[in-house]
Amino acid sequence: NHPVLRVRNLKTGFATPAGMVVAVDGVDFDLHRNEILAIIGESGSGKTVTALSLIRLITSPPGRYLGGSIEIGGRDLLSLDETAMETVRGKTIGMIFQNPRASLDPSFTIEFQLTETLLRHDPALGRKGARAAATKALQEVGFPDIPRVLASYPHQLSGGMCQRIGLAMVLACKPELLIADEPTTALDVGVQAKILLLLKKRSRETGLPIVIITHDIGVVRAIATRVLVMYGGHVQEAGEIDELLAEPLHPYTKALIRSIPDPDAPADTMTFIKGEPPNLLAPPPGCRFAPRCDQAIGLCHQKLPEWRAAGPGRMVRCHLAAAGGPQ
Ligand code: SF4
Repeated sequence: NHPVLRVRNLKTGFATPAGMVVAVDGVDFDLHRNEILAIIGESGSGKTVTALSLIRLITSPPGRYLGGSIEIGGRDLLSLDETAMETVRGKTIGMIFQNPRASLDPSFTIEFQLTETLLRHDPALGRKGARAAATKALQEVGFPDIPRVLASYPHQLSGGMCQRIGLAMVLACKPELLIADEPTTALDVGVQAKILLLLKKRSRETGLPIVIITHDIGVVRAIATRVLVMYGGHVQEAGEIDELLAEPLHPYTKALIRSIPDPDAPADTMTFIKGEPPNLLAPPPGCRFAPRCDQAIGLCHQKLPEWRAAGPGRMVRCHLAAAGGPQ
């Protein structure tokens, strides 16, 4: 069971006048078919830089790949030239972004954009074939009034509709994997649920592996099969969804899970993580979470915890979890 995507020791930095900010500092993971991997963390954790790194959208300068590998089908994407990478984007890796209109051009109808994309992907379709495929793609993301949608310009449609069209466009090109960067953050709750359901259904039906980037543990619960928790440029914990949610090992994961607002609880019992994320120009010498961790001991401030196994499919970076779990 070979992974579709294998990421090893990925390091991405940004040059600033004050020095190199290492935003992603040694990330490792595999992604298999049928998996929906959620990468969760607050802003500045490195989750979005990880997603952009996977599709080589880190612009240089100031961005720079500082090391590691991103393997798909035996090829390391970091060694490809830009022309080869252009083919990988869209064909091998589909992408959807937070801005629902990001993948649409405001000056063309949906029909024109969908058919052009499909023809670029498969010229043998011809105009007529591409039009039929565009209709089918919209059916698959649940649009009832397809002729009206096809004739519309993006500004005539809601954000949620644009996100579904973007998704239809990506899925119609049959990518080997999909990267979704906060795909529902800009949408209202009802539309969010619809998009997540669509992604889940597609993954279940076709095995399409998905990496979803989110700051919202609710999204993780709704869709993920596996989770990477990022903080300060490091992966702090990884595991299967049920185990990770039922028994989080890392104090940061625990805090994230506690931070879900409970609709039945009085407002003052909600817990939020106090403090600021670390300055990655000069990260703390020990655990990056130590300044905010309510369980930190002396060692945490001096020594970086190792990334180590904590059970089947489970990894964690915490001195206390490694010693038998934080109390
Ligand atoms: Fe907290 Fe120490 Fe674990 Fe870091 S290593 S998460 S500071 S207990």
